[in-house]
Amino acid sequence: MANIFTNTKVNNEILRMSNGLTSVFIETFCLAGADLAKKQFEKDLMIWFGQRDWVILGMGVEGFDISEIIWNTREFEQQKTFILKVIDSVYTKRNWQYLSYEPNTSFLFEKLNMFKNMIHSFTSENIGNNDWEEGLFEFDGEIMKYDQCEKHKIYKHYQGCVICNNEI
Ligand SMILES: [Zn+2]
Repeated sequence: MANIFTNTKVNNEILRMSNGLTSVFIETFCLAGADLAKKQFEKDLMIWFGQRDWVILGMGVEGFDISEIIWNTREFEQQKTFILKVIDSVYTKRNWQYLSYEPNTSFLFEKLNMFKNMIHSFTSENIGNNDWEEGLFEFDGEIMKYDQCEKHKIYKHYQGCVICNNEI
């Protein structure tokens, strides 16, 4: 089974990743951005990427269209710059010391190159009617927004840490 990543507002390109590789992609992205995120919109983006968790979405549907990211018109350029910075930090294996395995970089970086191009080519005109507030699932009190996993240091979504959840 594969997860599908698309950029339908820009072109017909399809990026496919196996379930295993998708987990590696999301985990390394969340790790790389965890301590880079300083502003609220940056932390919110990290929570959104963490939500691409099979525990919430189900296995095989963690993929997304680039337009589904919680873009907002006001901060779009900063959001895009931040995401590209996080991607570049994945290449430097930022915070991989918290992983219990060693990712296969040839598989990961090949997909990451494609993903980076997708983000690059996405512009503010492609945002559409995406509602920024609706992109994040509500926190229900047990886990608070901006709580970080003690073990992996990444931002948790309302059902925990995507890396811990993948270890189950
Ligand atoms: Zn964790």
